[in-house]
Amino acid sequence: AAAAALAGYRGPGTTRDGVAVKVLANVQDGAGARAAVAAHAEGVGLLRTELAFLGRAEEPSVEEQARGYAEVLTAFADRRVVVRTLDAGSDKPLAFATAPDEANPALGVRGLRNARRDPGLLERQLDAIAEAARRTGTEPWVMAPMVATVPEAAGFARLVRERGLVPGVMIEVPSAALQADRLLQHVDFLSIGTNDLSQYTLAADRLSADLADLTDPWQPALLELVRITAAAGARAGRPVGVCGEAAADPLLACVLVGLGVTSLSCAASSIAGVGARLATVDLDACRRAAEGALAADEPQAARAAARSVLAVD
Ligand code: PEP
Ligand code: MG
Repeated sequence: AAAAALAGYRGPGTTRDGVAVKVLANVQDGAGARAAVAAHAEGVGLLRTELAFLGRAEEPSVEEQARGYAEVLTAFADRRVVVRTLDAGSDKPLAFATAPDEANPALGVRGLRNARRDPGLLERQLDAIAEAARRTGTEPWVMAPMVATVPEAAGFARLVRERGLVPGVMIEVPSAALQADRLLQHVDFLSIGTNDLSQYTLAADRLSADLADLTDPWQPALLELVRITAAAGARAGRPVGVCGEAAADPLLACVLVGLGVTSLSCAASSIAGVGARLATVDLDACRRAAEGALAADEPQAARAAARSVLAVD
């Protein structure tokens, strides 16, 4: 039955009782976007623009960038596409953007912080996204990674709106989650990056196998920050998505929906599993599963609480 449900998922994402939850794809280029269309993604929740340029010595031209982004926008014309500006630095160094020789790159100049050293790099990328939008007649959403403060969000939003695009920020740093209400006075949506939010909340390197229990996306402290962020979105009437690995776990996806998240974005290969599971649960059960997970002291207990409410194995 589970296999049949997987094969049968065609979107759109919805709970059994009919609450819409967009199930979107994380992609890195046009080919990935076309694969996501085939997997019945409702759109792109995270276009990781830096991944196309990892091996490059020089910054790609505005024209080259515009062509690449337009491929993704074309694949999902009329549907949501969230373009993330370059998340250079830390685990994804770009030769043309990244500060060299930092003692602690995860806490260093990465993501939006690169604009402190080189504002032109961000502005040229936004120009390229705006050009891709113009060519394809689409309205992409644009978000910044590694935002920590309200002024950062406000400054980014201004640059994005100047180009007629829709601004948002990623919630990857605890300070941003705690100030989600205020960030939403400047941006139109939030997207929670649970990979980094767990790294920064638990102070544990996301790449360390020795610390994987700390960066487990079921850590109740991480779920609490998701709850705070989603509640801010609900108060403001703004969408709040999750685009980290947490969204790819079907059981955790239900908990995230119970915490108030309005979209989930994951690898194309995970979409059917998440969509099929959501279709079997009611919102109220998701909320009770979320309460149980939040009340747990550690990830295993959080999983067990969600499993028992949602009656799955
Ligand atoms: C995240 O941090 O959860 C995220 C989606 O961004 P990335 O994995 O690319 O850092
Ligand atoms: Mg991240």
